[in-house]
Amino acid sequence: MLPKRARVVVVGGGVIGCSVAYHLAHMGWKDVVLLERDRLTSGTTWHAAGLIVTFGSTSETSTEMRKYTRDLYTRLEAETGLGTGFKPVGFIEVAIDEDRLEEYRRVSAFNRYCGVDVHEISPREVKELFPLARVDDVLAGFYVKEDGQANPVDVTMALAKGARMQGATILEGVPATGIIKKGRAVAGVSTPLGDIECEYVVNCAGMWARQLGAKAGVTIPLQAAEHYYLITDKIPDLPKSLPVLEDPASHGYFREEVGGLMIGLFEPICAPWKVGGIPEDFSFGEIAPDWDRMGGYVERAMSRIPASLEVGVRKFFCGPESFTPDLAPVVGESPEVKNYFVAAGLNSIGILTGGGLGRVMAHWIIDGRPDVDVTGMNIDRLHAYQTTPEYRRTRTVESLGMVYQCHYPTRSMQTARGAKRSAIHDRLAAKGAYFKDVSGWEGADWYAPSGEAPKEQELTWKRPTWFPYWADEHKATREGVILMDMSFMSKFLVEGRDAGRILNFISANDVDGRAGMITYTQWLDELGKLQADLTVTKLDDDRYWVVASDTAHRHVLTWMRRHMEGSHAHVADVTSGWAQINIQGPRSRELLQSLTSEDLSNEAFPFRTAREIDIGFARVLCVRITYLGELGYELYIPTEQAVHVYERIVEAGADFGLRHAGLKALASLRMEKGYRDYGHDIDNTDSVLEAGLGFAVDLKKPGGFLGKEAVLAKKAEGPLKRRIVQVLCKDPEPLMFHAEVVRRDGKPVGYVRAASYGHTLGGAVGLAMIEGGGAPVDAKFVESGTWEVEIADKRYPAVASIKPLFDPGNEKIKR
Ligand SMILES: Cc1cc2nc3c(=O)[nH]c(=O)nc-3n(C[C@H](O)[C@H](O)[C@H](O)COP(=O)(O)OP(=O)(O)OC[C@H]3O[C@@H](n4cnc5c(N)ncnc54)[C@H](O)[C@@H]3O)c2cc1C
Repeated sequence: MLPKRARVVVVGGGVIGCSVAYHLAHMGWKDVVLLERDRLTSGTTWHAAGLIVTFGSTSETSTEMRKYTRDLYTRLEAETGLGTGFKPVGFIEVAIDEDRLEEYRRVSAFNRYCGVDVHEISPREVKELFPLARVDDVLAGFYVKEDGQANPVDVTMALAKGARMQGATILEGVPATGIIKKGRAVAGVSTPLGDIECEYVVNCAGMWARQLGAKAGVTIPLQAAEHYYLITDKIPDLPKSLPVLEDPASHGYFREEVGGLMIGLFEPICAPWKVGGIPEDFSFGEIAPDWDRMGGYVERAMSRIPASLEVGVRKFFCGPESFTPDLAPVVGESPEVKNYFVAAGLNSIGILTGGGLGRVMAHWIIDGRPDVDVTGMNIDRLHAYQTTPEYRRTRTVESLGMVYQCHYPTRSMQTARGAKRSAIHDRLAAKGAYFKDVSGWEGADWYAPSGEAPKEQELTWKRPTWFPYWADEHKATREGVILMDMSFMSKFLVEGRDAGRILNFISANDVDGRAGMITYTQWLDELGKLQADLTVTKLDDDRYWVVASDTAHRHVLTWMRRHMEGSHAHVADVTSGWAQINIQGPRSRELLQSLTSEDLSNEAFPFRTAREIDIGFARVLCVRITYLGELGYELYIPTEQAVHVYERIVEAGADFGLRHAGLKALASLRMEKGYRDYGHDIDNTDSVLEAGLGFAVDLKKPGGFLGKEAVLAKKAEGPLKRRIVQVLCKDPEPLMFHAEVVRRDGKPVGYVRAASYGHTLGGAVGLAMIEGGGAPVDAKFVESGTWEVEIADKRYPAVASIKPLFDPGNEKIKR
């Protein structure tokens, strides 16, 4: 019998749906109904290889989910009586070239910091553990003894039983045919057997999730792709309890399977499957393998285990798995429909993260907010244009292959490019811009010297050949004047009688003072934790200009809309209508003054002022603000006049030595100044005080603000026990990117969340969240310690600082 109502309806009975139902029920929400179209596991889960691996991610959230999952699969049998088939046979990842060795050393240091017991082992030790493997070209292995393999069907059945034991209802053979909405919120789910009224829906429909989402207007740009493994015939004398071996450079992983080997593949160029739509009746299905496409990859993978070439192939299996545009899952509440949650797009790691993801989802739904950093996987990072068939067909060719690529810090996705270009894109290209993918926009990353074309993408852990060009752009910003196109920034016009009141309520800073002022602020949740980091410019009493980074686009928009419901305040997304060109550097005032009739003197146009000015035939919103730590201006120009204004600036700029600067320079300049970047060095788990942003919180403004009580409570707790600290490597040589472990007096105390190279400071510089281990993280703590950063297993002396190491007195920006 179909229940008439439930608090939560989970759609999809794969590992993810069952894990969500299990965790909701365990956390006390027992009124849960899970609908499975056919039978549990009939989508992708039934044929997964079942690798359970905690090594390999530089995301703290992903690593925590992996660890939790492994623990859960170990204990589910005791709880439910159903085994998960988890065998801790161990896991080894081998590096066969210097670049991979560099990567795995960096990752393993970070993973150890997160509690994964991973060890670097010699080729001889690899051979001892996996005697069938050829190790002549292996440089090292990375070994986690506690990892291994599980049986995905058994895992799912155990989760389903655990959910039922806690009171959840699981119905097989009942498809969700649509989502019923009331206004902009979930009200129920329709099925062929009738409707179920509900408060929450969780779309865990795997590769069908996009189609189901589209029915309710929810954007879920995932796409199924062919995914392969083969199973060999029995191999004589195969050692018992072989560990799982992974050799990404040969595209393969290897594990024991009924006396033979399972050889799984991640080919570098992949094949999307059923771009037009996944058939509704595809159950326990297989795809006919494409031997022609895969033959070379199979050979390469098998050559790692010569014995596999001596026996026959019992089964060459191909099944579909969902992939997303950036290889992160699609998780969280949809911006379009309130209480419509999604957990899908698992990019081939749904089994090994499934337990943890279910826990995160249940927490998010029950508490109204997640308890881990979700900035990298939140559904609201994705955009509608990414759901077009052409986009999915194009991008998916690259995404599955990315899993086994070396994850170079200089890499940008190469497919589905050119989707969004700023109005001055062609001009920047003519100036020698090298472009990278910036939330789908072509963002100028750095510029080749005059007369040279930028080279193709350079993949390296070392200094790329363009390092000196980047250094020049950085220097030009510190000493002269530069032009930077930032048209990809998210721009919103907020208008209405209630606009100022509501914006001021959701902002921790006072954004509703004098018109013509820009204010840097954070938006907090009730716990005083960060939801956004942006600027609000008051244009007039009922008109505001809100600017956030590209990645925060839909999060910021949704946060505003949800807080403005029912009021006289309206948000227009004007990102496309306005180009943003920044003119920054000590000579920026001189340059702009030569182009406008407005007085730009420090007295007439001080720091934080915003005003319309004239440039040529255009009227431009000019805001005196900087993200680079220099005197500077952001120009917002109607898109159709962007080229004209650009031409005027470049023409006049010749007399001032104007240079173009790209996003590499943006990263290094802002990092020297310690300016934060939401989703990179600060996230939704940090309180505004821990993020070091207390200076932007106005506790005295009338009416208070969302999160104020929590900020006051945090202050009352006394000195902070964790805090963002800037870290500079004293040795100018090594490079930091992300996830380098920071040590104080030899002990690990945190890791670098984002880093760049400080061309002015003379070394790699980053922002790290430092845990004091009970001690206050204050100036004394910082000054009294001896600091080091660990880069690929080597320790380097470092300077740590709470105040920005560059221009701590803000003299440069206010001159
Ligand atoms: C060859 C291969 C090997 C893999 N190996 C591994 C591995 O070693 N380790 C690992 O972690 N991951 C592995 N994976 C990935 C893993 O299998 C997936 O990430 C995971 O199974 C995804 O689970 P899911 O619940 O999101 O999707 P699914 O298992 O597809 O579940 C979705 C469910 O939703 C149901 N459904 C769809 N639409 C509706 C509807 N309208 N109403 C009701 N129900 C609906 C479907 O019937 C289906 O049962 C592998 C995948 C493949 C293809």
